[in-house]
Amino acid sequence: MIFDPLRLALFTDSLERGKRSAGEYTVPLDRFDWNLPEGVPGDEPGRLALEAAFSGSSVLVEGVFAGLFIARCSRCLQPARLRLRGRVRRVYSDDPELCDDPEVEPILRGDGWISIFEAVRESVILAMPMAPLCKPGCRGLCSLCGADLNGGDCGHRL
Ligand SMILES: [Zn+2]
Ligand SMILES: [Zn+2]
Repeated sequence: MIFDPLRLALFTDSLERGKRSAGEYTVPLDRFDWNLPEGVPGDEPGRLALEAAFSGSSVLVEGVFAGLFIARCSRCLQPARLRLRGRVRRVYSDDPELCDDPEVEPILRGDGWISIFEAVRESVILAMPMAPLCKPGCRGLCSLCGADLNGGDCGHRL
């Protein structure tokens, strides 16, 4: 399997029909436009464990993506460094019958490369917690004076 982690692109012509291929890759997060609803990529590379199975007209891509992302802590509003792990699963196909299925992404026949970035990006969005925390048990902000209670007690009692 030929896979380019710098573009998150899989070379479909390198896959053998009826076989599964697997690989592990280091992904430089800063090369991609993540455009997440919440969070930005952190300062270390991500890891992608990938499997691809090729039927002749379809490629089933499955894997696990792990990466550091920085979001705002939902309690104290400081940056929260989140090590996210998400499942990646997508079918790419040039079979016109399968392409009616919304789960299936059409392969636009070109140079044989398909980008799986959108599938990886979705795995990050799904792995992002609804209420990110900078640390377990973050004490948040005082609702009277706004002091960060992780830094000490401001003296207010609610
Ligand atoms: Zn916090
Ligand atoms: Zn206070």
